[in-house]
Amino acid sequence: MSSLRFKAIDKLTAFKGEVEVASPAKITAIFNENVFTLKTAREFLSDEAYKSLAASIKGGKRIDRNMASQIAAGMRQWAESKGVTHFTHWFQPLTNAAAEKHDSFFTIKGDGTAIEEFDGAALIQQEPDASSFPSGGLRATFEARGYTAWDPSSPAFIIEIGQGHTLCIPTIFVSYTGESLDYKAPLLKALEALNKSAVEVCNYFDRNVTKVTATLGWEQEYFVIDAGLANARPDLIMTGRTVFGHSPAKGQQLEDHYFGSIPERIYTFMRDFENESYKLGIPLRTRHNEVAPSQFECAPIFEEVNIAVDHNVLLMDVMSRVAKRHGLVVLLHEKPFAGINGSGKHNNWSMATDTGVNLLAPGKTPKTNLMFLTFFVNTIKAVHDHADLMRAAIASAGNDHRLGANEAPPAIISIFIGKFLSEVLTEVESRVGKKFSEQDEIMLKLDIHKTIPELLLDNTDRNRTSPFAFTGNKFEFRAVGSSANCANAMITLNTIMADTLGQFKKEVDGLIEKGEKKEVAIMQVIQQYIVHSKKVLFEGDGYSEEWEKEAARRGLPNVKTTPLALDALSTSKAKHLFEAHHVYNHLELEARHEIALEDYIKKVQIEGRVIGDLATNHILPTAINYQNNLIQNVKGLKELGLKESAYKAQLDVLQEISEHIQIVRSKVEEMTEARKDANALTHSRDKALAYNDKVKPFFDEIRYHVDKLELLVDDTQWELPKYRELVFLR
Ligand code: ADP
Ligand code: MG
Repeated sequence: MSSLRFKAIDKLTAFKGEVEVASPAKITAIFNENVFTLKTAREFLSDEAYKSLAASIKGGKRIDRNMASQIAAGMRQWAESKGVTHFTHWFQPLTNAAAEKHDSFFTIKGDGTAIEEFDGAALIQQEPDASSFPSGGLRATFEARGYTAWDPSSPAFIIEIGQGHTLCIPTIFVSYTGESLDYKAPLLKALEALNKSAVEVCNYFDRNVTKVTATLGWEQEYFVIDAGLANARPDLIMTGRTVFGHSPAKGQQLEDHYFGSIPERIYTFMRDFENESYKLGIPLRTRHNEVAPSQFECAPIFEEVNIAVDHNVLLMDVMSRVAKRHGLVVLLHEKPFAGINGSGKHNNWSMATDTGVNLLAPGKTPKTNLMFLTFFVNTIKAVHDHADLMRAAIASAGNDHRLGANEAPPAIISIFIGKFLSEVLTEVESRVGKKFSEQDEIMLKLDIHKTIPELLLDNTDRNRTSPFAFTGNKFEFRAVGSSANCANAMITLNTIMADTLGQFKKEVDGLIEKGEKKEVAIMQVIQQYIVHSKKVLFEGDGYSEEWEKEAARRGLPNVKTTPLALDALSTSKAKHLFEAHHVYNHLELEARHEIALEDYIKKVQIEGRVIGDLATNHILPTAINYQNNLIQNVKGLKELGLKESAYKAQLDVLQEISEHIQIVRSKVEEMTEARKDANALTHSRDKALAYNDKVKPFFDEIRYHVDKLELLVDDTQWELPKYRELVFLR
């Protein structure tokens, strides 16, 4: 046998760990090495240019052309000192990867002299010919051209690929008429909306607060498998997941991988991509094995959301690239393997003031605790009121495999806050009707600080089943998919928070105008919000069937599939919300909806094709070949004059294989017809629903029979690497 499968196994068996990865003396020695930080800028820029850049980063001040040219010149000087010859605007179109278009600094002047140049105009704006990125019809309606524009708040960095070094300028990507075509533009707008609303609310408690930034610490789960084995699986290559494959005798049931020692080959790879990440300023902190075999996780120290999002996008790219050097493949898909856990990307989120306060950390005094409670309860109300948008923000073909399966947060959006804070809310709520008049009494009830140890104790792993959990000093949005750009979740979360806080301010001001004391007014509105939102709070097991029933009783939505979850983007509530905060105008929102539907359709369509192809030209021929072996065998035994009982087993296997072959064949045909019907539909939503309801159900049916064939056919003839090899060999 010379199939790719066995070649890969042979190669793997002979593998002796060829890649050497040097360890830095200290991480700080390489951290930010390839980033144009303010500290570096200080070195390479004039006073004036430096101040202008710093003011833009800290206070969002505009940088004028002249200043931009000075900054560009300094950046080039720095970059060239590091062997950079090219630059690119680096942006995040609505695919799951960053985009680049490289230009050299090299140019030829009118008089024929060749020089290197990078001017302010090239730093500030570019017009990549990027007309093939998803635009949801926006560019057809308006202008074909798309522009990238510099985001000074995210520092420029250098990507090293082999000996090639490229200066990358983080940018937004917009159409000629200003409609956003990427993740970053709306994210920056959402963060600004949050800043505005949150500062106003903070000012009830502290007049010195002038800026609130949202913070994000993501936890990236991923699988790593041998590249040789992966290359022998066309489904992994084409779709990022295995569409066939019988469960191995051993899966994750022994839980011997979770937090176990990291296999050496993977460990070397991790150190390698971590070093690359440190150079790029990604502050990675944690690494460990995850639950499923060959599954791992890494997490950084949290950062301001915009930077954290860029860093996650960069990390996914760095990991995938570095893996190649090690003969490995990183799988970022939400569900690469059936029967074992899929991967998510927890988004730990909070808000911080420019006075250094984490708004979701219980304070030291009753006054700061009232501020904590305000932001805490507003978050609960935001998620309660916009659970549909939170669900839509995490909807994707890949995540559909995870949400609601018994391993990941359910498709029902609920919030876990822990026993202690539940009691605090109940206490506040119990005063409905009774007026808060005695300020001291309120404050007494809010002396949360004394019980902080209890609070932290309360936030152990037992709440893993909640899609949105309070974990001591932050909320953790756990239902985000592993391959997703965090921006989607962050745009929604920060916008709904901005909106809720704005509402809160209005209501509190209303009461104050009526003569209520500030603290009393705040407390009253908090109380109303608790009553209004408490049905979204759930402390129990989110994976249980009882919760599904209970959630239905409470009227919480439980939308299990992407095409329906995305409906939330077309409600008038959503339009008003995003428009009010200048995050999306209604055309942009419609475009996002359209793009998400198209993405879903394409992914399922590709999977359908891969299943059809693999079944027809990999699985069936292999099964038929093996049948022929059996037939030869039976014929031979018969010729020798043996009784039928001597080859009964062979006949039974032949019969079984025949049955599976027939079913696979006919189901593939039916699926192809269903795909044709779906493709004939014109509206994306109808098409997505058809793919979901009419095409996708065939996937599992076909798989069932293919996986049975895998068990029946001679192992040496089976071409596709088996699960036991994919997830256990390295
Ligand atoms: P877990 O128990 O979920 O692993 P960790 O303490 O390890 O919790 O934190 C997970 C992530 O949450 C890390 O990236 C961490 O930096 C981040 N995190 C901690 N505090 C905050 C915060 N205030 N805002 C955003 N993320 C935070
Ligand atoms: Mg976590």
